[in-house]
Amino acid sequence: MDGKSWDAAAAGGAWQSFAAWPLPLQWFFVGLFGLVIGSFLTVVIHRLPIMMARAWDAEREADLAAHDATPEDGVSPKAPVERYDLVLPRSHCPQCGHTLHWYENLPLLGYLLARGRCRACGTRIGALYPAVEAATMALALAVYWRYGAHWSALAGFGLLGALLVLACIDARTQFLPDAITLPLLWAGLLLNLPIWPPAWTAAAATLYDGSGAMLPGVLDDAGGAMAGAAGAWLADPGAALTARAGLFCPLPDAVIGAAAGYGFLWLVYWGFRLLRGKEGIGYGDFKLLAALGAWFGWQALPQMILVAALGGSLVGVVALARGRVARDEPLPFGPYLALAGAITLLFGDLLTAFVAPWVTGI
Ligand SMILES: [Zn+2]
Repeated sequence: MDGKSWDAAAAGGAWQSFAAWPLPLQWFFVGLFGLVIGSFLTVVIHRLPIMMARAWDAEREADLAAHDATPEDGVSPKAPVERYDLVLPRSHCPQCGHTLHWYENLPLLGYLLARGRCRACGTRIGALYPAVEAATMALALAVYWRYGAHWSALAGFGLLGALLVLACIDARTQFLPDAITLPLLWAGLLLNLPIWPPAWTAAAATLYDGSGAMLPGVLDDAGGAMAGAAGAWLADPGAALTARAGLFCPLPDAVIGAAAGYGFLWLVYWGFRLLRGKEGIGYGDFKLLAALGAWFGWQALPQMILVAALGGSLVGVVALARGRVARDEPLPFGPYLALAGAITLLFGDLLTAFVAPWVTGI
């Protein structure tokens, strides 16, 4: 299978010309793209919780006004609130209000040039901003390493960015916004509809190897559902040219994965409530695991639950031992679910690949 017939075959053309660039240049642009998106993600992490809080306040006030107030009460219309969303107001120092110049807004560089301080008043800028930008860059490089010049890389990067935002917001506010978890769920289901041209699917990435794109081959031997699909494509590339498929797993697996992911944590929640009389996890956690089930199929759920539970208890035990949290304080579970999703995207279903042969071999 030479590159040209793939080029003609489907929408992979643009990706293939990108894959033909010198490797260092590919990595450079992928990293740069990650940085720019990372810069946007810092805005989402900072502003989305504030936007949610404002929306709740406004709703409550409207409710109160509708139920309790009669015209005679003289409820004065509130002063119009300044617009606040992901676009406006422009980035500024929370201390002195200094609006950032374009060069101060440069991802990572702006922070490094100003040595982590506001140029106007010298207030320290939180390390969260450069950390998220650097992490997003690393995630872009990682997903490009795993999937190559390919639509599934872009979809996977979208998932990783959303997971990073969710992890940060949950760690800070104990909330996983529906505004992110629910679109993630629909995106997972839609991406796994068997309608995408073969050049879009993860499987095709392995076929691009000859054209000088990424080499995810080693990991494919260990990956579960995704690698299985890739193997089928490789065995019959002729069928791969005409058949259409989902990006990450077969649609039935995705639908069952979404329902089972939600249902499993729902059961844990109610079990916890009945036994201990309190809430161990939140509804946002159900929705996030449902979304991850939709992306990777039900087969990946055991691995993701295991990673999240291990990560959560490990950090929880350490935090308890150091007296950082009270015993009854709930720990955010979202960051560990997000980590589990990222591991599954980048490395496949390792649990099934490595453990299943042992179990079935006995
Ligand atoms: Zn300032």
